[in-house]
Amino acid sequence: MLLFACPGVPRSTPAPGGTVEGLKHAHSLDIGAMEIEWVQSVPGNVERMEAIRETAAGLGMALTVHAPYFVNLNASDAVKLVASKKRILAALTMGQIAGVRSVCVHAAFYQGSTSQKATDNVRRATEDILKRKDRFFPDVNLAYETMGKPTQWGTLDEVLAVSKEFGLYPCVDPAHMHARSGGAWNTAEEWNAMLDAYEEALGAQSLRSMHMHFSGIAYGPKGEKHHLPLRESDARWKDFLDVLKKRNVGGVLVCESPLMEQDTVLLQSTFAAIVENA
Ligand SMILES: [Zn+2]
Repeated sequence: MLLFACPGVPRSTPAPGGTVEGLKHAHSLDIGAMEIEWVQSVPGNVERMEAIRETAAGLGMALTVHAPYFVNLNASDAVKLVASKKRILAALTMGQIAGVRSVCVHAAFYQGSTSQKATDNVRRATEDILKRKDRFFPDVNLAYETMGKPTQWGTLDEVLAVSKEFGLYPCVDPAHMHARSGGAWNTAEEWNAMLDAYEEALGAQSLRSMHMHFSGIAYGPKGEKHHLPLRESDARWKDFLDVLKKRNVGGVLVCESPLMEQDTVLLQSTFAAIVENA
């Protein structure tokens, strides 16, 4: 089953807002999932995490998390590297308490390194983080995201290689891939190739429980500029949904449009119509 997630608390959530109220409001809009945005920092309040878990479970909603942006697992500065690993570990640990299934992470910047060297450093850091998995986040997946700028580690091949090695699954963001490539990854043929590569790396069942992002996106020679509403972008989003249906993709698709819940509902209702007419 494919669930569509709002990127954070819906904008139309009544005051005082917050994740618990946001979940209730998203549910009232018929949205089946939410990605909790811990992009600035990870909260430390365990009771709040438990309230999130109970609310989501009661409403039957799936949860994912976006980890803080301030991460570079390829940092040459040891202090920055330790801080990066700590932020990821905190997101995974609090995510476990909140009942989250997957945490997406912008893993690294190349900063002059080759892909190989950066990948080796991400691999080393991953090994270190996963030493704490059994104790702190047994049920949460660490999802490295495909990134939208050529300065960022996170091509599809890179995230698949590290994920495969450690029994993880990545966060596939076709909008980022589209921006990074200057306009590719926008046809059924290309998305099928993307899913083929994913399936080949992670196994036949892997397409049933993906963590994905999707939105319109503005881009230039340096890749991603910013996200766009679906209808103001060049994304062939209906064709994308069609591919997801044909390939029987399941899991959580986070709609990262600036229109938030509005475009989440648009994706979700369009997908439902495709399923109905199939
Ligand atoms: Zn992201």
